[in-house]
Amino acid sequence: MEYTTQMDAARKGIVTKEMKKVAEKEQFDVKELMALVAEGRVAIPANKNHCCLDPNGIGSMLRTKINVNLGTSRDCRDLDMELDKVNNAVKMGAESIMDLSSWGDTQKFRRKLTAECPAIIGTVPIYDAVVYYHKALKDITTEEWLKIVEMHAQDGVDFMTIHVGINRRTADRFKENKRLMNIVSRGGSIIFAWMEMTGKENPFYEHYDRILDICRKYDVTISLGDACRPGCIDDATDISQIEELVTLGELTRRAWEKDVQVIVEGPGHMPLNQIEANMKIQQTICKGAPFYVLGPLVTDIAPGYDHITAAIGGAVAASCGASFLCYVTPAEHLRLPDLNDVKEGIIASKIAAHAADIAKGIRGAADWDRRMSEARKKLDWEKTFELSIDPEKARTYRAAAKPEKEDTCSMCGNFCAVKNMNRILDGEIVSIFDE
Ligand code: SF4
Repeated sequence: MEYTTQMDAARKGIVTKEMKKVAEKEQFDVKELMALVAEGRVAIPANKNHCCLDPNGIGSMLRTKINVNLGTSRDCRDLDMELDKVNNAVKMGAESIMDLSSWGDTQKFRRKLTAECPAIIGTVPIYDAVVYYHKALKDITTEEWLKIVEMHAQDGVDFMTIHVGINRRTADRFKENKRLMNIVSRGGSIIFAWMEMTGKENPFYEHYDRILDICRKYDVTISLGDACRPGCIDDATDISQIEELVTLGELTRRAWEKDVQVIVEGPGHMPLNQIEANMKIQQTICKGAPFYVLGPLVTDIAPGYDHITAAIGGAVAASCGASFLCYVTPAEHLRLPDLNDVKEGIIASKIAAHAADIAKGIRGAADWDRRMSEARKKLDWEKTFELSIDPEKARTYRAAAKPEKEDTCSMCGNFCAVKNMNRILDGEIVSIFDE
């Protein structure tokens, strides 16, 4: 093989089949895309062992992508249910699936995903280490942490979240500067606890070069985890978050020096008025690396509706430069999402991504809206359903309250402004009262 990673290929001027596919999807010239991959401004997560992958690019000048988190937990162990969620998510257009399984035979599920699922597959090896080794957290050795990373890479995972930014210095700053919700990142809390109990440095930080060698060998994109992401709006943009971000900037540079593709993870919970500044700081510190936001949730008071709080924040974040949105479901903070929660979360996230793409002027984004408006103007209901982000819901709503006149809807009936304007502009008489 003439190249190791997509970034290495781009730097050598080699057009890979993945670049060709992504360029087609994004209406980009492939050379233009290759330059962005070479600089690290676009990542194409594509593990060499994920043979059924339908590749996608992640970067702020491309269409905003969404990720769906799935996987078993100790309380919800139904693998078939998780696979149903995966299949539905792919059908609904999710570009990426993160398998966050923390119970059972995680490798079997992971391998099934990389053997059959065309979406980008991501994992968090830190969770899996705790399940895999079946022993107390403090007894997991540095070598064992690293072995799990290699295992996931061999299994064909396209990107891995590694909480490498929380080193001893960040941990000390976190302890000196109290915050309301402490650390809410699952992986971050695990590695912080391990460092506290063993007195050792974060093994992923200490042996970062070895992690990069693994990523380079299989072309795994490293997703630099944000252990200190704020877990409530009160903690947003605090010392711990920014301290870790500075480290993530340095780690981005080191990864790129080894041709390893990078995504940087971000907040979290954050008031609306702080999002734009956060996106700008991240892009400056991490030199334009694709930003993957986990929300941001713009208020803390809406359990049951956090797909909405996250979609508001996600739309603003993506319009200001984030390129990858992690979906949030109505079940966030409450339970593992069921099939319907997953659907609601995906739709909310896709709306946020699309709204941002219109604002950013992403190629082709507003065409969809134009076609919808043309169908609405013609009162072409069938076309309207076809173009809806959730055709099934649109059909169900209209069918639930049929209008007397087929070409209107039960909202205004005879007063239908669209119909009446079409008629008056066609020279017809519009009476409304006796029609
Ligand atoms: S009846 Fe009212 S809401 Fe319905 S299509 Fe016409 S203008 Fe729109």
